[in-house]
Amino acid sequence: MIGLGRQFHGSTCVKNASPTMGNMVMRILLLGSPGSGKGTQSSRLQKNFNVAAISSGDLLRRNIANGTEIGKFAAKEIERGAYVSDNIMIELITNELRTIKRKNWLLDGFPRTINQAIALDDNLSLTGQPLNLVINLQVPEEVILQRIMDRWVHVPSGRVYNLSYNPPKRPGLDDVTGEKLSKRTDDNAEIFKIRLQKHRELTEPLLEYYSKRNMLVTFTGSTSDEIYPKIEGELLRRFGVENFNQGGRPEIVNEEANNIPLNDV
Ligand code: ATP
Ligand code: MG
Repeated sequence: MIGLGRQFHGSTCVKNASPTMGNMVMRILLLGSPGSGKGTQSSRLQKNFNVAAISSGDLLRRNIANGTEIGKFAAKEIERGAYVSDNIMIELITNELRTIKRKNWLLDGFPRTINQAIALDDNLSLTGQPLNLVINLQVPEEVILQRIMDRWVHVPSGRVYNLSYNPPKRPGLDDVTGEKLSKRTDDNAEIFKIRLQKHRELTEPLLEYYSKRNMLVTFTGSTSDEIYPKIEGELLRRFGVENFNQGGRPEIVNEEANNIPLNDV
């Protein structure tokens, strides 16, 4: 089944919601093909929930911008649409996870191979903090290429702009810092084809891996605006409202939808 079919209306006071809600810590993975909007959803979630985020792609791009050894190596792989080796990625993200101070976090872009997933599971089980939700973004392939061609990024922050859906306030400049936006070296039609192929071959097997562990939910839509409310509803339902930053919470009006088994999404 696709989507929750839930409806939201208005914004209601949430402070006196069920006291049993909100105890659960959010440890989330965002999966989805290149250009499916993982970065955009991650930014929105960080704005609306009390959650830290690690994006493997942003981390690599910052390493490239800073001229680090990892950056030099990664640049070659990224430019040709290949994956950076599991060993490098596992070390990079494991170190980054150690720096996270907040109890709630989400990962975008890592793990993206079975080896990385196993390493992450092992690492998190050592600290008794396993992933508890994997969100798969499903966006039709026809719309993704155009989105990639229209995409500009602010490398230091990872903020993503789209010339059609979400243009910067001043052309070519980041809304927050006013710094220059840039085009990713891998955001072109030729490399995108290779990235999609790699994704199918190496990352899609993760869907089965997490589905078997009853952790996977999939949301489908053509735009991030269409998908975001579905994710938000799911997080409120699973994790409660304690971690929700907004002044109010959309009221869930469809009782029946509320009873859908957690993995049947
Ligand atoms: P999008 O940002 O549009 O969702 P994407 O998922 O392909 O697309 P990023 O996550 O930004 O892009 O990653 C860009 C590139 O960085 C990848 O194509 C790959 O070369 C490298 N990369 C990022 N994360 C990993 C990873 N976990 N393992 C191996 N390579 C990675
Ligand atoms: Mg990304």
